[in-house]
Amino acid sequence: MNYRFLGHSGLEVSEISLGSWTTIGGTLTKEQSTELIDKAMELGINHFDTANVYPLGLPNPNSKLPTGESEKILGTALKKYSRDSYVISTKVYFPVNREGLPANNMGLSRKQIIHHCNESLKRLGTDYIDVYYCHRFDDYTPLEETLRALDDLVRAGKILYIGVSNWTNTQLKEANKIINKSGFSPIIANQIMYNLFSREAENDLIPNSQENGTGIVAFSPLARGVLTGKYKNSNLYPKGTRGGNPDTKQFASKFLKEDYINRSIMLNEIAGERNMTLAQLSLAFLLDQQAVSTCLIGATSTKQLEENCLASDIAIDNDLRQMVMKVLKNR
Ligand code: NDP
Repeated sequence: MNYRFLGHSGLEVSEISLGSWTTIGGTLTKEQSTELIDKAMELGINHFDTANVYPLGLPNPNSKLPTGESEKILGTALKKYSRDSYVISTKVYFPVNREGLPANNMGLSRKQIIHHCNESLKRLGTDYIDVYYCHRFDDYTPLEETLRALDDLVRAGKILYIGVSNWTNTQLKEANKIINKSGFSPIIANQIMYNLFSREAENDLIPNSQENGTGIVAFSPLARGVLTGKYKNSNLYPKGTRGGNPDTKQFASKFLKEDYINRSIMLNEIAGERNMTLAQLSLAFLLDQQAVSTCLIGATSTKQLEENCLASDIAIDNDLRQMVMKVLKNR
């Protein structure tokens, strides 16, 4: 496993990071989640991502009340390792108490941020969160209020670094103006969807990440499983996959479309000719860009983790790049 700095910070994260959105405490039991986390540590993954609302909508997709189960399981599983050997990131924004509170139930107000940080710390069972993310941008709270609250958490030692998720270039620029003027702690990471099928970030966020100092943390780098080549048919999804499970199908539906599946079949052939899997090709392609600090994968088995981690050592040459681009043309 190779490591990179997270944006313009001194924090080193593994090129492959493990997320927990639908898996840790969702489709995976506590025991299975713990086995996965142990395997990740063994493979050199040092960066674990979660959120106060994960597993989102699972295991009971009809429940609107997140339980913070992912944070609890992750924190417990990591307890046996020394605290300096891993990096935990978690997030605030979405309502945790959706049915309970008529006001102050979501967003990035000072109250939300401080309250939810304290709750996450309790569930994770740790004194500090390494990277605390704003899960979305909040149009209703003054940006200065949000940034000041986060800075206060840094100064209190409750969080070490600040990240954002799905913020636009304009929003980052605005935030950086305030940060520079007020001497607040910098935003070091922007967590965005980035995969071979979703490359919008290449237009502005990636070219500007150097100037902003925000490392790109690429979530859903395998297009939720479609960029592994295992889906062969847009109407029939293999059993035991995110698409083949009625509880989780909705979390892959964006990419379970004929066009994506056809292209994934073509890309799978190209990967096979180079003795790699499509998952490895897809991750190595993103890591080929220095702006990408880490690929934030999901996994449902230790076998998937082993396969995906090998991408950290794969280089993409020009011929391969061109072949892949040909398949992605007009996407
Ligand atoms: P991926 O695109 O990596 O999809 C992961 C899924 O693909 C796995 O759960 C597994 O599903 C399948 N898979 C992974 N590796 C393999 C393999 N080698 N062979 C076959 N199948 C494989 O990422 P996710 O969409 O899960 O997102 C990753 C993380 O990013 C999340 O856990 C979360 O932490 C973060 N995230 C952040 C968001 C944000 O708003 N900030 C939004 C979404 C995600 P299965 O086996 O069930 O088919």
